This record gives sequence, C-alpha cells and structure tokens, in this order.
Amino acid sequence: MRTPEENRKLADMLFPEVKESPEDVFKKYPKRNVEGMVLRFAPSPTGFIHTGNIYTGFVSTKLAKQSGGISILRIEDTDKNREIENGVTQIVQALKGFGIEFDEGMEDEDNWKGEYGPYIQSKRIDIYHVFAKNLVSKGYAYPCFLTEEELEEIRHKQEELKERTGCYGKWAKYRDASTEEIEDLLNKGGKFVIRLYSTGDIEESFNMKDLVKGSVTLRENDMDAVLLKSDGYPTYHFAHPIDDTLMGITHITRTDEWFSSVSLHVELFEKLGFKQIPYAHLSPLMKLDNGKKRKLSKRKDPEFAVSFYLENGYPKKALLEYLLNIANSNFYDWRIQNPQKDIEEFELKIEKFNKAGALFDVIKLEDICKNYIATLAAQEVYEMSLEWAREYDEELAKLLEENKDYCIKIFNIERTGEKIRKDIAKFGDIRDQLVIFFDELLNNVDIEDIEDRVGKAKQKNILNEYLKVFNISDTQEIWFEKIRNLASELGFEKVGDVAMVLRVAITHRTRTPDLYQVMQVLGEQKVRERIQKYVDMMI
Ligand code: GLU
Repeated sequence: MRTPEENRKLADMLFPEVKESPEDVFKKYPKRNVEGMVLRFAPSPTGFIHTGNIYTGFVSTKLAKQSGGISILRIEDTDKNREIENGVTQIVQALKGFGIEFDEGMEDEDNWKGEYGPYIQSKRIDIYHVFAKNLVSKGYAYPCFLTEEELEEIRHKQEELKERTGCYGKWAKYRDASTEEIEDLLNKGGKFVIRLYSTGDIEESFNMKDLVKGSVTLRENDMDAVLLKSDGYPTYHFAHPIDDTLMGITHITRTDEWFSSVSLHVELFEKLGFKQIPYAHLSPLMKLDNGKKRKLSKRKDPEFAVSFYLENGYPKKALLEYLLNIANSNFYDWRIQNPQKDIEEFELKIEKFNKAGALFDVIKLEDICKNYIATLAAQEVYEMSLEWAREYDEELAKLLEENKDYCIKIFNIERTGEKIRKDIAKFGDIRDQLVIFFDELLNNVDIEDIEDRVGKAKQKNILNEYLKVFNISDTQEIWFEKIRNLASELGFEKVGDVAMVLRVAITHRTRTPDLYQVMQVLGEQKVRERIQKYVDMMI
C-alpha cells in the first residue's frame, strides 16, 4: 500500500503537465439555472447511423424540450479506431433531417454552440487528466503496466481456475506497486494505462432507482477498470461522469447496453466526489425473428440503418411517430383520440418507457406511414415526393416536375371525402402509383390477364359498346348506371366483370384506385385511346 504522500508524488510523476485542480475546472462550468431537464445525446462518430440513434436522439431532445430544459449533442470520439472522416457532420445532418436539433453541442467537425463545451471528447483530454491526477493523488487510481499478452495470460489462468475474468483484486498486479517500482518502469518507458483502484466488494449489493427499469439491486463493482488508455484518451466509463457532471446533465438517458456497467459508474461517481446523476436506460429496439425477440442488428436487418428510411422514402415524421409508439405504449390511445394533432403535443414520460425491449416492426411502421400520408393534402404529397425523388429517383423527379398539376390531380384521387385511400407508405411507392397515368411508364408493364374471367370476344364487345356511350362529363352515378346497363344488355350477371374489363383496358391492372376518378384524371382522349389500343391489340 502506498501512503497518501506517495500517492500525491505518484500523481505529479504521472501528470507533471497538469496544474489545475478539479475546483479550477468546475469554475469554468457554473451550475446551470434551468428548471427543466438537461439531457444529452452522446453518439460516437462511427459513420453508421442507426435507428437506435434516431430513437435515443429523438426522445432525449423531446423530453428536454417539453420540460422547458436543454438538449445537448456531445460527440464521444475517444475510440480513434472506430472514427471516420466527417463523422460528426454526418450525425448532425442525419438528425437534422429528422427534425432533431439540439440547444447546445456540436454543429460540425470543429464548431459547437453553448457555454459548456468543448462538446467533443477529443478536445477535453486536459479535463480528464485533471480528474485522473486527482484520483491518483487520493489513491483511487493507479498506473497499470500489464501488457496485452499478460492480460491474456491472466484471463487464461482465471478460466482454468473457473474464476471471474478481468483485472480485479489479487489479479490487478500493479494496484499496490511501490512508487519506486512505478518510477523505475516509467523511466524504462513502460507503457501504462490508468486504472481505477476499486474498493467495491462483489459480495455486496446495493439498490438504486433506474428511471425506466424502476428499483434495481446490483452487485458492487470490484473491477479495476481502465480510466485512461495508454494514448491518454479516456474510456467511456471515465469520461461520461465527468462530462455529464460538468455539463449539468440532470438525467442520463442512454441505451440499455450500458446497464451492465452501472456499478462501475456508480463507484466512479463516488470516487470522483460527484453527486450521482440518475440513469434512464432505454431498452433496445428489438425484432421478432422466427418467433423470438432479438436486438435489431446491423448485419441482419436493413431497417437498422437510417439510410433504409431515407432511400425508400419513408416519411420522417411517421418514423418519429412510430418511435413514440415504441417508447410510450399510451401513445397509441392518444393518437386515436387526437388524430389531427402534431406529435409535438404528445407528452412523453420517462417512467412509461417500455421496459422489456421495444419491438420494431416495419409492417407496423408502414401502417403508420400510410395513415400519415393519408392526412396530407395532394399538394404536400407532391412536394414531399419531389423532394425525395430529387435525391433518389431522378427520372421520377423529372416526371413530377414536368407534370405538376396532373400529378397533384393524381394524388388527389380518393384523398377527400369519407373514405381516404391509404396506399402510400413511402415515397418510393409513388412511381408505382403513377404508372397507370403515364403511357411511357405503362408501356413497360405487362397487362394483367383476365381471360379466364371474361373471354377475348366478350371483352372486345364490352369495350366497343362502352365507347359508344362513354362521356367524360357524366357524374359518377350516371357513369355507373351506364356500366350497369351495359352488363344487362350484354348478358353479364356481374357488373363487376364489365367494370373489370374497362379497368384492365384503361390501366392494364385489375386493382386501381376508384376507376371513375382515374378516368376523370386521364381525360376523355386518353381513355378513348387506351380502350381503342387494347381492342386493337386483341385481334
Ligand atoms: N458514446 C456512447 C455510445 O455510442 C454513448 C453512451 C451514452 O449515451 O452515455 O454508445
């Protein structure tokens, strides 16, 4: 055991350049004067932005906003191996694309807003060193010179002896090394990390309240976890209590994967002398796979990547709405009671967060998207489709641009009145919606065969007779009356068969939106042309 004096000496030896004390640092981060929650979203810039990021980022900003508090975007870039160029900008842009914006934090690779920065960990190294030095001087941390190979060896031994693996207790070789031994190793240029000198006891438990999980009982930590890596960068474990405390975070909303490290984090808060900030561990997004729940995976599930929603053109607002469904199950009832309200008006509650793992289901998402798009005016559908197409389907964008009024008419089919059509889930579906209205698209589509229902000769007969009575200015009632008359004159039992022949002749499909409305949009000339072409083709 080193004496307090020796620990102070050790701290100076390890961090000669650090002159500040924790108190000096705290002076630069005055206590905030806000009533609401101060929450942060703290992603790492790895280049892969997933649905879980949108979920955590969205709920954190929403909770902060609705409480009159502050939301912060902090970038955790201390794992240099995982980092990619422009990673910060990518995150900022992706979140912005979903309307998720922060009051403070990073805006791109180099710039941030707010008084509690830097909001990127690689620019906070000096701060972590102040606290690391302080811990060493108090005997709560120490340099450890174990090499990768030695750690591997320890691990093997532990496995052989069927003991817990890791660097703790008697296995933590350098925790009580003498100052002389350490000085000697340092002089020889030995590489070291700074580890926590844990005083926890794995046999002891303690209770704490997680804001999502409720009251939990955890075993104490006894691992001498790494606080600073050999490159001087902090680990997540060490950086987050420091950042969250200095930035005045009131609740730590983070994903469940960190729950298993809570005992370590509690010990770190204690040893750093900080007041524990409550945790809210958000359950991960799950999926049903062969009847079993499992986490959404980057490798297996395309829907895990945010690019999936962007490329397919899922409306962003509908994705957020679905995420609210997942977060708080009472959102469902709220939506039924408030079909027209904006999701901003829904009050999200931490204590109502799904505890068991939130099921993410693309089919349900699509239902929400369909409902959402059904609430839009034709003009809005047009604008959103165009915005999407400009990025992802140039040909479609051109078509939309050149035929604006016509397309708005198309999108207006079954968009008003009592029964609103809900068949667009994503802007990637729009092309298919337009096919029947543009000859150049329709010509590439096979005509659906209905010969087993109505033979060729009869089809021809129906169509020739129809052309004689067709009048585009007919009301829907008269239009239908004419089809009914035709059916009885030609001896068809089912009016539907006659309508079907018309439908296929005009659109090549057996299923379309309301045929009367489709014909109205196409106009008299086009309808006649198509019917004639179909008849001619049947010779
Ligand atoms: N940087 C951590 C991650 O990417 C964030 C954990 C947290 O929110 O505290 O998972």
